[in-house]
Amino acid sequence: LQRLRARLSRSNTALGKGLLALLSRGDLDEEAWEDVEDTLLTADLGVEATTELVDSLRTRLKVHGNADEATVRGWLREELLTLVDPSMDRSIASSRVEGRPAVIVVVGVNGTGKTTTVGKLARVLVAEDKDVVLGAADTFRAAAADQLQTWGERVGVPTIRSDREGADPAAVAFDAVKGAAELEADVVLIDTAGRLHNKVGLMDELGKVKRVIEKQSPLDEVLLVLDATTGQNGLRQAEVFSEVVGITGIVLTKLDGTAKGGIVVAVQRRLGVPVKLIGLGEGPDDLAPFDPAGFVDAIIE
Ligand code: GDP
Repeated sequence: LQRLRARLSRSNTALGKGLLALLSRGDLDEEAWEDVEDTLLTADLGVEATTELVDSLRTRLKVHGNADEATVRGWLREELLTLVDPSMDRSIASSRVEGRPAVIVVVGVNGTGKTTTVGKLARVLVAEDKDVVLGAADTFRAAAADQLQTWGERVGVPTIRSDREGADPAAVAFDAVKGAAELEADVVLIDTAGRLHNKVGLMDELGKVKRVIEKQSPLDEVLLVLDATTGQNGLRQAEVFSEVVGITGIVLTKLDGTAKGGIVVAVQRRLGVPVKLIGLGEGPDDLAPFDPAGFVDAIIE
């Protein structure tokens, strides 16, 4: 955790240091407040949250008069924590429900880190002594099923897939849920395709995957994988997925490579669902539960 925090903190120093330097300067004129706003917008906090945060900080400064850096840091921590919203349920449904495996479907645009996330999550769940089954329903990208199976072998869990490239993803998803039930697994993780250039096609495909799974079992968790470095574009993609399948949680990947940690706040507000996991690198251990307080501390350290 310490290691992850250090990495996160490094990646977010632009936000923390920049802001604190600006805010503890004392008598802030309009230009200085604009700099504060720019810093927050650059970190992808989004217009709405930035406005709210700046309004609160301005009010506090006005009431308090001049404040030293420690005081400002405390305010910033409180305000950011409110925005990140620690009250949201960030647990992952990964235990058997009513005598059947939990079903987790992972969606997102290709390249965001979906398959990697499924592999890392499988590893986390296996470490928690769960019986995991993987389903390779990304049948569009030729190497996706191989990539997932390699993760499965590394982690020691079975992968249900089709050997036919271009097979019906809904059929593979169906087989994965069925197979997991037969194996009396705790949880089945289903990787899906995400070709956003064809929005209607994606809607049809994911909609069908969902409907076909639902013939056997409810979807307990639909995790949307979002690349933190894609900023506002990522938010629009997120909305499309949310309309098609309904999202229960967000996995924000590639936070290690960006100072745009504010996207956590922006995406939660836009979709109304919590960021549950964060990706902090390409390695098998680089997936962590999202911890609001730790995250805010890392940002403003
Ligand atoms: P998919 O097409 O969405 O299934 O994407 P992949 O899982 O194949 O990942 C695409 C690339 O992103 C790969 O090179 C991954 O190693 C990399 N990747 C995934 N998650 C992270 C992360 O959290 N941080 C970094 N730096 N790279 C990541």
